[in-house]
Amino acid sequence: LPHTTVSSNVWLLSSENMYSKMKITNIPLTILTFSFLLSSTLSSQSEPTPPTVCIIGSGIGGSSVAHFLRTYSNPSHLHQIRIFERHGVVGGRMATVSISGETFEAGASILHPKNYHALNYTKLLNLKVNEPSSSSFSLGIWDGHKFLFKTLYSNSKLPFIQQIVSAANSILMFVRYGFSLFKMNNFVEGTVDSFLKYYESFESRPVFESVEEMLKWAGLFNLTTRTLQEELVDAGLSYVLIQELVT
Ligand SMILES: Cc1cc2nc3c(=O)[nH]c(=O)nc-3n(C[C@H](O)[C@H](O)[C@H](O)COP(=O)(O)OP(=O)(O)OC[C@H]3O[C@@H](n4cnc5c(N)ncnc54)[C@H](O)[C@@H]3O)c2cc1C
Repeated sequence: LPHTTVSSNVWLLSSENMYSKMKITNIPLTILTFSFLLSSTLSSQSEPTPPTVCIIGSGIGGSSVAHFLRTYSNPSHLHQIRIFERHGVVGGRMATVSISGETFEAGASILHPKNYHALNYTKLLNLKVNEPSSSSFSLGIWDGHKFLFKTLYSNSKLPFIQQIVSAANSILMFVRYGFSLFKMNNFVEGTVDSFLKYYESFESRPVFESVEEMLKWAGLFNLTTRTLQEELVDAGLSYVLIQELVT
């Protein structure tokens, strides 16, 4: 927009100069021509065409940009928003697939409660949050051929049955993995806490020149220089859990 205004001013200036030179020869035609040019230039200056914004990709990123642009832009400053998406559906890597009536994760399907931006976004859009039901699903580790481990499952609605199943699952997991699941939880929580620094210090946070600098600031850089296996060994997880988790 500033660029458009500057070039319009330049055009106006030069047309006035030309007008003063040319009126000596053919006054009526010159006046007519330059009145037209002047009026069209003035009208284009007073009513600049608002720009069209093009967004590549309709994942949560592109869709949010479109939503916030539309919500917070002055309509006279924004003509149109166009989203280009190479697939036939919106959502990008936020996806689930249904197979035989069961829903499987094919991308993001869970919001971590500390993912503040995404969580606020769901509130802003009045989306209904589906709380996970801890009692009515089974967890398993699949190696591509068979389940290496699977928790017990009961579809009984009776609370005491669910409590028994839940207690049995805790015992099963403890026998197989010992304290490794707690250690893994600590490892994940620690990593999430480091990541949260980006949310917490909006005002005091530096401006980063590179991704490397950004990761070092939050203490996450070392994670990118080592394998997950090395990290989990350092976190004290058992050999069995590491072998089953890291593929
Ligand atoms: C298996 C898996 C599980 C995940 N689980 C979780 C989870 O539980 N919770 C969580 O918070 N996050 C999860 N994530 C991460 C989350 O999915 C992504 O961080 C998030 O969806 C990225 O959104 P985005 O809009 O940045 O990119 P994307 O979702 O990748 O969107 C990019 C879009 O752009 C389109 N596109 C790309 N190039 C072009 C082009 N040239 N022309 C036209 N269109 C183009 C793509 O088709 C796509 O639709 C998971 C990711 C995966 C893969």
